[in-house]
Amino acid sequence: MATPIPALELTNQVFGKWTVLSPAPSVRGKHGKLRRYWNVRCACGAAGVVGVNALTMGRSSQCVACGRKASAAKHTRHGRSKTSQYAVWEGMIARCENPHHGSYHKYGGRGISVCAEWHDFTKFLADMGPSNGLTIERKDNDKGYSPENCRWATVSEQGRNTRRNVFLTHPADGRRLHHSGWAREFGIAPSSLQWALKRYGLVEAFKRCEARRKPPVS
Ligand SMILES: [Zn+2]
Repeated sequence: MATPIPALELTNQVFGKWTVLSPAPSVRGKHGKLRRYWNVRCACGAAGVVGVNALTMGRSSQCVACGRKASAAKHTRHGRSKTSQYAVWEGMIARCENPHHGSYHKYGGRGISVCAEWHDFTKFLADMGPSNGLTIERKDNDKGYSPENCRWATVSEQGRNTRRNVFLTHPADGRRLHHSGWAREFGIAPSSLQWALKRYGLVEAFKRCEARRKPPVS
């Protein structure tokens, strides 16, 4: 027999504009399944009752009045770029602050946060400028989201800066190159460099790679 899944503790958590206040009475659904509900308050002050799935899956993030306002804003001039930027902003905050977000372990779960000012969307918009369909990238992957550490990047630019692909500083001469840049310099595949780093550590791996470096093709 299946073990019942324990109720999530959502009190004080924030989902979009909703802040969760307390559990609301559960409702027995059509097929006898218990549906859990929470009392929530919108950023505008309106109270509401929202189902757990609607909250955690992001289907409900604000009260009806705020939803109407937001969709009206979509139809105003420049509404489109503003809307895609809003999605970026919402996603950024969810990755860092909502433990139920699918990627939370790679962000909030390892200490990546959003700076205080950027909890205000208009401030974020003013600092970053238009996204033009690009994604937000952190220059230093171990630091959080802030004006100093963020820029707009294409998806492939962003791919170069994932946690596995890091910048490495040469132990002897202090040059800082991207992981793939070093692999190119050593004339080996990035995966071989990855392996050597794991096996020998940075200093020894660099020594070995340099000793075996292939002469440049002329
Ligand atoms: Zn509201």
